[in-house]
Amino acid sequence: MEDRVSAALLDWYDVHGRVLPWRASPGRRADPYAVWLSEVMLQQTTVAVAGRYFAAFLERWPTVEVLAAASLDEVLAAWAGLGYYARARNLHACARVVVADHCGSFPRDVAALGELPGIGRYTAAAVAAIAFDVPAAAVDGNVERVVARLQEITTPLPEAKPLIQRAAAMLVPAERPGDFAQALMDLGALVCTPRRPDCPACPLIAACAGFRSGSPERLPVKPRRGDKPRRFGACFFAERSDGAVLVRRREERGLLGGMLEFPSSEWGPAPPGDPLTAAPLAAAWRKVPGQVEHSFTHFDLVLTVHAAHVGAAAPSLDSAWRWIAVEALERAALPSVMRKVAAHVLSTR
Ligand code: SF4
Repeated sequence: MEDRVSAALLDWYDVHGRVLPWRASPGRRADPYAVWLSEVMLQQTTVAVAGRYFAAFLERWPTVEVLAAASLDEVLAAWAGLGYYARARNLHACARVVVADHCGSFPRDVAALGELPGIGRYTAAAVAAIAFDVPAAAVDGNVERVVARLQEITTPLPEAKPLIQRAAAMLVPAERPGDFAQALMDLGALVCTPRRPDCPACPLIAACAGFRSGSPERLPVKPRRGDKPRRFGACFFAERSDGAVLVRRREERGLLGGMLEFPSSEWGPAPPGDPLTAAPLAAAWRKVPGQVEHSFTHFDLVLTVHAAHVGAAAPSLDSAWRWIAVEALERAALPSVMRKVAAHVLSTR
């Protein structure tokens, strides 16, 4: 049955597989650097968005050596808008390890790839399969869905993950495992979609237990999720008379680690009672009408924003703080939530 599945899927892939900027043309081996870069980007965004960032990164840093030589600030700034900044820091760290410890060549096997910064089980398997044709099962959300349906795995997630991983590993063929990995991804993205799988168009319909059950769309069984908690805070946009704005760098570890931010209060479960107690300096703060809302993976954030003009001799506070020109905000390593804060202030002028 596994052989039939892989043969049918590869035949389908040869005709219907997506043409993507990081994929090799038929008969050619994909560049491991491009595969790794695209897989890290695709963990958190759509193919269309990842494509734009991928092209920009590749133009600026065409090889892993050039990326390793870039500063972390440059990489974080180029990553801005993709979210999950820990991944950008790991991307940079990984490039440096590949250059320092592997002479600029990505290792070929799954275990060695998994030792690199920011490369988890999925990415290691995807890079090994796609770039080196190693028979590894790369199970992302799309593949998880296809395999759960194909084998009618009714155990809810996340308990089903090891079952799905094992079932996926059984399907990987010895011939063309890299194409097979990409074919499964494409089938999940194009045909076996979350709400309305197009079973009549699917090359695996004859082998699919989920289809035979009559309701494959119920698989994989998702855990019940409560609503995301909300957090609240106040953010301060201090602008000097020479046009510079006060920012600071966040701690390297944790949410938005290493990114720049405008001064803000703690983000707590209730709006701050007197937000101005968190102001970074004494000034005639005015509350900007409205608020900024931003959704993180585990919580939604609501910020009130306070703006003030301060003199050119405003103190530089401690070393974590700095003043940067308002025109330079566009290129700075500001996360999306802080870009929203700046846009909110500037839109009220
Ligand atoms: Fe998914 Fe339907 Fe294909 Fe089964 S037959 S893998 S449910 S699209």
